[in-house]
Amino acid sequence: MMTSEDCIFCKIVSGEIPSKRVYEDDVCVAFNDLSPQAPTHILIIPRDHFESLDKAGRDQKDTLGHMLLSAAEIAREKGFAEKGYRVVINTNADGGQTVFHLHIHLLAGRPFVFPPG
Ligand code: AMP
Ligand code: ZN
Repeated sequence: MMTSEDCIFCKIVSGEIPSKRVYEDDVCVAFNDLSPQAPTHILIIPRDHFESLDKAGRDQKDTLGHMLLSAAEIAREKGFAEKGYRVVINTNADGGQTVFHLHIHLLAGRPFVFPPG
């Protein structure tokens, strides 16, 4: 398993940093964002450390597909799929990425504008 020593999301995967988990399996872990930007704000992260979508290669294609489908599954299970939701992957500085362990934001519970700011 790939981890990075000072990565906060690796520490969330290992349990060293506490989180409110809403879903987990052998590939990914999903937990509530500490600073929610919507009534529901869940982060889905791979157990393996890789920095960003920019750093993902074809080797990560199964992991990325798995994470996206997990987001859709969580949305259905939590009952907001039909109403709608947004998935976001902030990438590098202009994309607004602040934690460099790839993650999908799953946001719901209010309408979202497009394009985002
Ligand atoms: P990004 O700006 O796309 O890199 O998103 C990083 C997200 O991680 C932000 O929405 C933060 O609120 C969230 N975050 C940072 N630290 C924690 C933590 N310890 N537990 C849960 N969410 C966190
Ligand atoms: Zn990490």
